This record gives sequence, structure tokens and C-alpha cells, in this order.
Amino acid sequence: MKLPIYMDYQATTPVDPRVLEAMLPYFRTEFGNAASRNHSFGWSAEEAVEQARGQIASLIGASPKEIVFTSGSTEAINLAIKGVAEMYASKGKHIVTSQAEHKAVLDTCKHLEKTGHEVTYLQPDKTGRLPVEAVEGALREDTVLVALMWANNEVGTIHPIREIGALCHERGVLFFTDGTQAAGKIPVDVEADHVDLLCLSAHKLYGPKGVGCLYVRRRNPRVRLVSQIDGGGHERGMRSGTLNVPGIVGMGAACAIAEAELEESMTKLAALRDDLEARITASLDFVHLNGNREHRLPGNLNLSFSYVEGESLLMGIHDIAVSSGSACTSASLEPSHVLRSMGVGDDLAHSSIRFGIGRFTTKEEVDYAAGRVIETVRRLREMSPLYEMAQEGVDLATVNWQAGH
Ligand code: PLP
Repeated sequence: MKLPIYMDYQATTPVDPRVLEAMLPYFRTEFGNAASRNHSFGWSAEEAVEQARGQIASLIGASPKEIVFTSGSTEAINLAIKGVAEMYASKGKHIVTSQAEHKAVLDTCKHLEKTGHEVTYLQPDKTGRLPVEAVEGALREDTVLVALMWANNEVGTIHPIREIGALCHERGVLFFTDGTQAAGKIPVDVEADHVDLLCLSAHKLYGPKGVGCLYVRRRNPRVRLVSQIDGGGHERGMRSGTLNVPGIVGMGAACAIAEAELEESMTKLAALRDDLEARITASLDFVHLNGNREHRLPGNLNLSFSYVEGESLLMGIHDIAVSSGSACTSASLEPSHVLRSMGVGDDLAHSSIRFGIGRFTTKEEVDYAAGRVIETVRRLREMSPLYEMAQEGVDLATVNWQAGH
């Protein structure tokens, strides 16, 4: 076993060696521009792009023509939300989303608020889940879009997407879902789940960074978008710019592998994840699960440890690469907006750790990680008078800290 151990699979994943193999020719001999129509270099690149389009579409139950390549999910999210908001502005200017979305969604919505759109930010329940009734209650005559992630990147909670999709279709509202953490990890079917727009990102499913796509429904209903990047009219005018052919080939290969191995990986990841949790909670008290035990991504385990300080905990387990809060925001000291939206207090939010289990995680690594966490939390608690009081059964919420003064 090599240290440090990687347990941050929700932030990004290594490229699968099979994916890299598939990509290599497209850097070397097959380097053509997929838009070059006059020679075999271009034809070969275009053929590879179309094959990848098919592989990606197959993973999510779409047709290849419904896939628009982008530089990743952030760009696809911008295209989906701004593209719909601008295209349907004359129909209505109201958007429904949630407080626990990725910043790419939240900041895009904030941008639209400055240009006259209205956004409702729904609060999830304590497990990070939004019941369909909450979405229903927020819909208005002028609602044009519901934008909700399929699965949360921090706590792994999975929303009732099929019900929300059905509701949107019934009410004639477009439904965009951020599938970045879900695609390739759990079953995703845009037809059965009534999804109109969905983004995914290659680097979250063992493909390369810097490539992703937006699924845009072509019938029942046909979704129209205002493009956000204009130029040579690539991707049927929805996203101009020379295609990243090696990246797209890699994304296609990654999706094909994810589809073929989906069931097997779900079982393996959930078993390792549950083992990690069982080991930790067998040895430590006052451990809280952030997320929904039933509706959760197989590779996600987000725990908070009472009576330990978050930074010290992270330092104590520095040879395990984990995240506390979203990787994109962990540079800031602000507690995670996702945990806050679920009503988790600042203390528990600060001592939260997201363990991300993935394709290359081994049992040995899980054993080691559990041991390190247990040892570190115990050591830190030995120095904590609060922990001692809690163990003696003192309800810390009722203590009068001024007594004796
Ligand atoms: N949405 C979710 C749920 C994510 O986890 C991420 C990645 O952190 C993104 C969007 C952004 O994806 P990308 O890195 O492809 O821009």
C-alpha cells in the first residue's frame, strides 16, 4: 500500500489506464480537426467524436444527437441555465433551485438575478434531500426551469429525480439536473427520469479533465437554448469552438466502462464505504453521518466528529487525501454551504470529513484510513474537557458557562 491514500473521488478521479490507451492515438497520428471536411485526418477525428457521443448517450439513455460537448460541467451548467433563461424569458423569468447546489449553479443563478430573473432557493431537509412536494410548492405560473442536482457532491444525497422530473413535465416546466456526481455511479436514464437537460464531466468518472457535455432533449419537449459561446457554429450552434478530440474520445471510453461495470462498482463501493463507517463508529462515539443513509451515492461517506477541531483532525490524518466540504471551496474557512443548508451547526460542519471511495480504493486502504481516524480523534479528545463532560452525561447545551464568576 502506498501513502498518501487517495480518498477524494468526488473531487476528481484518476484517468483509467484503459481510457488513456484509447486517447493516445488522437494526440499522435489521428490529430485531425473534427470539423475538417476535406481530408481523412478530419474524417477520422469526426468518426471518433461520433463514437464517443454514442457511448456517452448510451450511459444516460439519450440519443447521440442530444449531446453537446463542453469543457466540463461548469460550462454545461452555465449553458443550460443561462441558455434556457434567455431563450424562454418571454414565457417567464422564474427559476427554482436549491441551497445545496454546486457553486456553478448557485453563482449562475445569482448572475441571472442581476438581469431580472427571480430564483427560489429551496432548503433541503436534514439529510440534504428535497421532497417532490417542496419543488411542487415552489412552482409558479412564470417558472421556466427547475435546476436540481441528481446527487450532492459533499454528502452524496440523491434527490427523488424521477418524481421531480415527472412533476416538471406535467406542469410544462423544463428540468435541468446536474448529473456530475451521478452519471456512471448510479443508474441514470433521461427518458424514464423525465430529464430535459443534464450535465456531466469526464474527470469525475475516470476520464480526463477539461471535457464534459450537456444533454439537451430533442423531443417531448424539444429544448431550445441561447448559445453562450459563439463562433464557428460547432455542436449545432449551441457551443462553438474546435472540439477537444482526445478528451472527447477519453470521455466516451470512460462512459462505456462505467456503463459496463455499473452494477459491480455500486456493490463494491458501498461495501467498502459501509466497512469504513462501521469500523469508525465501532471505536468512536459522537460520530454523525451527514447525508441520507438510504438515498446516497455508493462511494460517499461524510462524517462529523464532535469535540474535535476540524483543522487538527485533517492534520492528524494528512496521509489520507480527503476533503472537508467541497474541494472547490475548501480554500476558504467558511463552513460548507451544503451542511449549513441541512441545518448542521458550524462546529460539526468544521469537523466534517468527506471520504470518497472509488474504483481503485482497496480494502487495505480502508483499514488504514479507519485506524488513522480512530487514533487521531481519540488523541484529540483526550485533550478536550468538553468531551469528558459529554461522556459523563452532561448536556452541554444546558451548561451555564458563567457559573463561578
Ligand atoms: N457540479 C458538481 C455536483 C460537481 O461536483 C462539480 C465538480 O466539482 C461540478 C459541478 C463542476 O464540474 P467541472 O469540474 O467539470 O467544471
